[in-house]
Amino acid sequence: MARPVILSVDDDPQVLGAIERDLRQHYKSEYRVLKAGSPQEAIDAARQLKERGTAIALFLVDQRMPEMTGTQLLAEVRKLHPESRKVLLTAYADTEAAIASINEIGLDHYLMKPWDPPEQKLYPILDDLLSEWKSRAHLPYDGIRIAGARLSPQSHAVREFLSHNQVPYQWIDVDQDASMRELLSAFPGGAAKLPVVFFPDGTHLSAPSNLKLAEKVGLQTQATGNFYDLIVVGGGPAGLANAVYAASEGMRIVLVEQSAPGGQAGTSSRIENYLGFPNGITGADLAQRASSQARRFGAELLTAQEVVGIRREDPYRIVRLADGKEIPAYAVILTTGMEVRTLDVPGIEPLVGLGVYYGAALSEAMTYRGTDICIVGGANSAGQGALFFSRYARRVTIIARAAGLSPSMSHYLVERINATENIDVITRVEVVKVSGNGRLERVFLRNLDTGEERTLDISAMFIYIGTAPHTQMVADLLERNDKGFILTGPDLPRVNGKPRGWTLDRDPFLFETNVPGVFAAGDVRAGANRRVAAAVGEGSAAIYSIHKYLETV
Ligand SMILES: Cc1cc2nc3c(=O)[nH]c(=O)nc-3n(C[C@H](O)[C@H](O)[C@H](O)COP(=O)(O)OP(=O)(O)OC[C@H]3O[C@@H](n4cnc5c(N)ncnc54)[C@H](O)[C@@H]3O)c2cc1C
Repeated sequence: MARPVILSVDDDPQVLGAIERDLRQHYKSEYRVLKAGSPQEAIDAARQLKERGTAIALFLVDQRMPEMTGTQLLAEVRKLHPESRKVLLTAYADTEAAIASINEIGLDHYLMKPWDPPEQKLYPILDDLLSEWKSRAHLPYDGIRIAGARLSPQSHAVREFLSHNQVPYQWIDVDQDASMRELLSAFPGGAAKLPVVFFPDGTHLSAPSNLKLAEKVGLQTQATGNFYDLIVVGGGPAGLANAVYAASEGMRIVLVEQSAPGGQAGTSSRIENYLGFPNGITGADLAQRASSQARRFGAELLTAQEVVGIRREDPYRIVRLADGKEIPAYAVILTTGMEVRTLDVPGIEPLVGLGVYYGAALSEAMTYRGTDICIVGGANSAGQGALFFSRYARRVTIIARAAGLSPSMSHYLVERINATENIDVITRVEVVKVSGNGRLERVFLRNLDTGEERTLDISAMFIYIGTAPHTQMVADLLERNDKGFILTGPDLPRVNGKPRGWTLDRDPFLFETNVPGVFAAGDVRAGANRRVAAAVGEGSAAIYSIHKYLETV
């Protein structure tokens, strides 16, 4: 935590030098003593310190300055630092103004010049004020701070990106923090574009892209090598397992992830059926462990980089990134998994991020503490979401189309849900409409058997209604099934005994697609068993085929 500041302001350099010397002598071990030679310099310093998240414990300000009186200056800076103690330095003739300021701006004290000896006339007064400040002040957090609006999709996206990448931050709701609103209103061009992310080095980014944010917080976003044996596309369990095995066996490998390592599993509040973790493990923890394991073996992990295409230039396979850069390698494995399906009902589009969320938006749990929320879906991810949010929300309602939660949900989850007092389950219903003025307020349901309609007054809806594969970027290159999942090995459609377009003498290896040297594993592969352990298993097992392929190039 940065030391809090004592800021003295006087336009007379001699007086300023003297007060600074006395303040340093007594307070320098606990406070940073700074000085400003004019009101404007003081306002700039106050603003910069606010941006950095450094607290100003005390302002010691001369009353008589040509640009602005001390009282006026204190009225300005208190908008940015409302908790600071405020002391005026006055001459005898200014005492009336100083007394008026006590009520006007909540002045804490006025000191008569000269203050000699400071041991009697300065330190005892300031010691009292500072100890009072210490006991009341909420010391600012000196890590990354995100200032945004609670119900803003952009603010939500930035929070999700940082939390999935395990980057700690402090959230500041601008609607609740007047001093932050004051700071943002003075940003060039008027009101800043939210969210604004403040960094400990005093810089900030307004409404940043994932890539900008990743670069700023020091995540690796660019490949360091010119060429790789293997490029892994997607950093879910399958990709991370593949990276661990590839790197541990000496391959030059880079993994490219569009968001944060962990994939769908990384968003899970608790994975309870993964081997070796009898008490379960959070998706975030699993992702963090797997990423550090892969890095330890020498794998490069790029974050916030989307792969938009793959090209074949024999014997090379070239991966194209959204920022236009290309990475060449001998082999590529697609472990891009799936994403949640969207719910297409009237009213929903403008409310996404404003109470409507897809998947497990765990970072929103605190936002909806003590309110009523609903979960749409009846499979395992919906069940886990309901149990997670039941720890925060007043009431959680699961909305499912099926007649019951079994068999689409694991037995252990159904039992837990039944035993959780603040979870209700409504079955044989579908969402037909949502509404709200600037944020979700109401969900309209229809009974699938009777057609009867009802409404739920709700503050948030978390949707878990199935998934679609991430394969658009290889739609023209690879064979896919009718749902878009990638076909591999023996599943590839055959013409005259050979996979369509296949020119080699050998058959495709296990996990190999219709393009030699391009592999697929995990949820993105047609026929995969969509579980964490299965994805890890496929990602690991595919290394055997990749080795065999690399022997041929
Ligand atoms: C909320 C939830 C809870 C779950 N709980 C469990 C559980 O308890 N037990 C269990 O066994 N399974 C569970 N699952 C299922 C399990 O998480 C998945 O089966 C598993 O994550 C699949 O791993 P994967 O690596 O194949 O794909 P994913 O996890 O989907 O990872 C794919 C990754 O690829 C990235 N990507 C996609 N396209 C691109 C691109 N173009 N460029 C770069 N990167 C890209 C994505 O951002 C993602 O990180 C759960 C799923 C969810 C959503």
